[in-house]
Amino acid sequence: MITKLNENLSSITSIGVGGKCKAILFPENEEEFINLLKDFNGKEKYKIVGNGTNLLFSDNFHDYYVICTKKIKKKMSKRKNCVTFSSSTTLFDAYQFCLKNHLSGFEKLATIPGNIGGSLASGASCFKKSIYDDLEKIQVFYDDKIFWIDKNKMDYGYHFSSFLKNDLSKPFVILNAKFCLKEENPCKIQNEYLSCSIKRKTNQPIGRSFGCVFKNQNNQSTGMLVENCGLKGIKKRDAIISEKHGNFIINSNHANFEDIKYLIDLIETTIKEKYDILLEKDVEIVE
Ligand SMILES: Cc1cc2nc3c(=O)[nH]c(=O)nc-3n(C[C@H](O)[C@H](O)[C@H](O)COP(=O)(O)OP(=O)(O)OC[C@H]3O[C@@H](n4cnc5c(N)ncnc54)[C@H](O)[C@@H]3O)c2cc1C
Repeated sequence: MITKLNENLSSITSIGVGGKCKAILFPENEEEFINLLKDFNGKEKYKIVGNGTNLLFSDNFHDYYVICTKKIKKKMSKRKNCVTFSSSTTLFDAYQFCLKNHLSGFEKLATIPGNIGGSLASGASCFKKSIYDDLEKIQVFYDDKIFWIDKNKMDYGYHFSSFLKNDLSKPFVILNAKFCLKEENPCKIQNEYLSCSIKRKTNQPIGRSFGCVFKNQNNQSTGMLVENCGLKGIKKRDAIISEKHGNFIINSNHANFEDIKYLIDLIETTIKEKYDILLEKDVEIVE
């Protein structure tokens, strides 16, 4: 296990923002991960971080441990048309494994930079495909027990799941997930992936971000609303509302939490005033 005592959370988030916590812990295999969860159970507060691509931590001290699943050895297996992935498997790894096995389901999702655990918790989706579409069940650690939960017993939706309401004293931790997929011609799978990647490169900016700041409301693009309000390109120190996509904020160098939060609040209040729309955040803000 790798333990970082004095490291900022900015080092494990895609936006590159976040203060210190008690320690950032990186288990390196499933056994270490489960032993750590058992040791902490009921005794220590902790937050799980996957690839850190949907999180904005404040610069304050966070009085709990952070367990990052990024370095846990990935486990991917297949039985007939069903695959099981550990929470640390990235959506891109999942896609590559499925491609090799001629299974369709992850070619659109692979363009999202999260891992299986973080993406299930966030209810990730893109190009009209949700990570929940082909899910069968999830294995979790909760209250010192490991068990499977069937999809029909879960609460999830558009960029939402009940795992997001996790209590830091007793969270539900996703360990593995099983998906049942359809057989498909590998060329077709690969072409779909490439076409989605091209759409992303054409429409979305490069740089440090957490993806979209706000959810789209009733199929209305928040990026377009931001553009119509003339907010694209507005800066607060090193934080900037992307010129390419109005729903992205980029950390161009050393932006801090206050800089990013200022722009988030600016978008929120401007769109409320101009369109009377109350936007819902897509990014998870951890103050
Ligand atoms: C460039 C870019 C593009 C993006 N595009 C999209 C997009 O098209 N669609 C989309 O939905 N999202 C998008 N995102 C946002 C983000 O990538 C997704 O929400 C992603 O699925 C989050 O996964 P993660 O591993 O990074 O989770 P994290 O950000 O690490 O965590 C997210 C939440 O999940 C919880 N969590 C993490 N792992 C576990 C676990 N094992 N058990 C329980 N809880 C856990 C965390 O505590 C946190 O609450 C984008 C982000 C970026 C940077």
